[in-house]
Amino acid sequence: MRPFDGKDRALILDHSGAAIDLGHPCDDQEMALDEGKPKNKTKPKKKERPLKKCPQCKFLSAENPCPKCGYTRQRQNGTGYEDGELVEFTSKSNRAVDRQAFFESLVQIAKDKNYKDGWVKWKYKEYFGQWPKGRGWIGREPIQEVKDYMLHSKIKYIKSLEAKNGTAG
Ligand SMILES: [Zn+2]
Repeated sequence: MRPFDGKDRALILDHSGAAIDLGHPCDDQEMALDEGKPKNKTKPKKKERPLKKCPQCKFLSAENPCPKCGYTRQRQNGTGYEDGELVEFTSKSNRAVDRQAFFESLVQIAKDKNYKDGWVKWKYKEYFGQWPKGRGWIGREPIQEVKDYMLHSKIKYIKSLEAKNGTAG
């Protein structure tokens, strides 16, 4: 899509489920054109898991449990099509977050706390459901979304400890 003067929004109606097959329109997509030649077989591409809608919060993600609300989908037996339902990708979704800023914020936290590079990649993937691609390792003052997410992770961790010990009170 191209920007248009005076327009700062776009409404995409995806009736065919293209986002589920091909990814969200805001995702980094491979834009190279197919030249009709056989693909280079030395570098087989890992097939990415398809996006699925979280039954609880309707967030689209390939991850299970849901990276947004933590809901765990049960494996479904058999195959088949489910009835379609129009879902709105809201600005509240993780996908609207500035990925570069998010990544750089993680880099800064890792520097401050002496975490390894792998931690940055995992946290990024945990949040967006995708590995960071070609992003520079420069730190920046963490953005609010990252601060919120760190707090959320901490609370989740403490709760899991409490559940393990069975002494929540
Ligand atoms: Zn969810």
